[in-house]
Amino acid sequence: MIKKILIANRGEIAVRIIRACRELGIETVAVYSETDAEALHTQLADSAICIGPASATESYLNMERIISATIISGADAIHPGFGFLSENSKFAKLCYDCNITFIGPSYEVIENLGNKSNAKTTMKNAGVPVIEGSKDPIIDIEEGRKIAGEIGYPVIIKAVLGGGGKGMRIANSAAEFNGAFSNAKKESKMAFSDDRMYIEKYIENPRHIEFQILADKYGNVVHLGERECSIQRNHQKLLEEAPSSAISSSLRNKMGEVAVNGAKAAKYENAGTIEFLLDEDGSFYFMEMNTRIQVEHPVTEEVTGIDLIKEQIRIAEGDKMNLKQEDIVITGHAIECRINAEDPEENFRPSPGEIKEYHMPGGNGIRIDSAIYQGIKISPYYDSMIAKIIVHGKDRKEAIRKMDSALGELVINGIKTNTHFQHEIVNHKNFKDGNFTIKFIDEM
Ligand code: ADP
Repeated sequence: MIKKILIANRGEIAVRIIRACRELGIETVAVYSETDAEALHTQLADSAICIGPASATESYLNMERIISATIISGADAIHPGFGFLSENSKFAKLCYDCNITFIGPSYEVIENLGNKSNAKTTMKNAGVPVIEGSKDPIIDIEEGRKIAGEIGYPVIIKAVLGGGGKGMRIANSAAEFNGAFSNAKKESKMAFSDDRMYIEKYIENPRHIEFQILADKYGNVVHLGERECSIQRNHQKLLEEAPSSAISSSLRNKMGEVAVNGAKAAKYENAGTIEFLLDEDGSFYFMEMNTRIQVEHPVTEEVTGIDLIKEQIRIAEGDKMNLKQEDIVITGHAIECRINAEDPEENFRPSPGEIKEYHMPGGNGIRIDSAIYQGIKISPYYDSMIAKIIVHGKDRKEAIRKMDSALGELVINGIKTNTHFQHEIVNHKNFKDGNFTIKFIDEM
């Protein structure tokens, strides 16, 4: 049994995990950087340890300090949240070597699936449809050009270790290839200290549909339905919903079964997400598997009634999952809007600063996952997402109305946020009609 969990993260996800632990009667330890001394997660945890200066490399990404904090505090497990060290196989291995339970899959699985080329091979061998693309990582531009020519334009060039839309470029023709490849490579080197790339066919008008998976240590795997994540800016998600208006129940069963088979083939354990692109003709392709809890997990929780963080902890404790596929029922419709400290008028440039005035919406079916309060200073050092507004309605129409109303009540002054932009999205005719692809925001 896990008695004390150290949360190797900050912001709303750290708060979300603290709350789940409290409900399970598990003690919590927060870690914080000097700039986060007043942060909500630092204040809410049972104890808190400062692990270094603001810069993430010296704090939330510093494995040695986090492991030391775990040992000093006597915690027996680490929850990595998302981002930071959550998909770092070296960190998961370090936990294992130090006899600390890492709440997530094994380091071998993280390493295999974190490499987009390897992940595609694993899935392909399990009969999961994958997008046509390069087999091995590419470094050389001429080799890349040759492969892109064979695949046929347009192609998308991605960083092998990519994430968060970084190190990704589209080349519509051979003339665009060299520029796109060099830029993607440069960005990947900066973000991931690695410049291996892979190339795949660019699908013109797909939707991003992902399946939530839960898998225990004994080979039991279920899926919790899909999330629709097509509303993106710069390949980063902004609004997510469950279920997707593009998925019939027969397609859900089919894609869900494929996702479960993929997870089994990868020897997956704990909560994970299989991301697909759904093409206009109904064909779907594996894109990647995320080996951690996702930002958008609350929409799945709302429509299934399953607390994913608690499930993660129980699975890590070695519990046998008593959920069967037929027990999972999707009820109503949920939408999440990510509220970011950024300026949509200035290409979503981050807008750090002090929150001077603050009011959060409430009411039936409105959930707020956030870590902000009046007077807190939003740091320029970390991700710009500061809150998530989640609504649950009896159907999509009601959920959209609830979100419209919730966004109307939301007040965050002192910094710029994307609240107004989110409001425009939920009131857009094509959004309301469920008629959109990943190009929705570009075409707004
Ligand atoms: P990351 O790991 O950086 O988030 P993903 O591989 O998950 O990258 O892709 C992010 C987004 O990029 C997708 O949701 C989709 O919008 C777009 N994308 C990725 N691959 C393709 C593709 N082959 N064709 C069209 N769009 C793609």
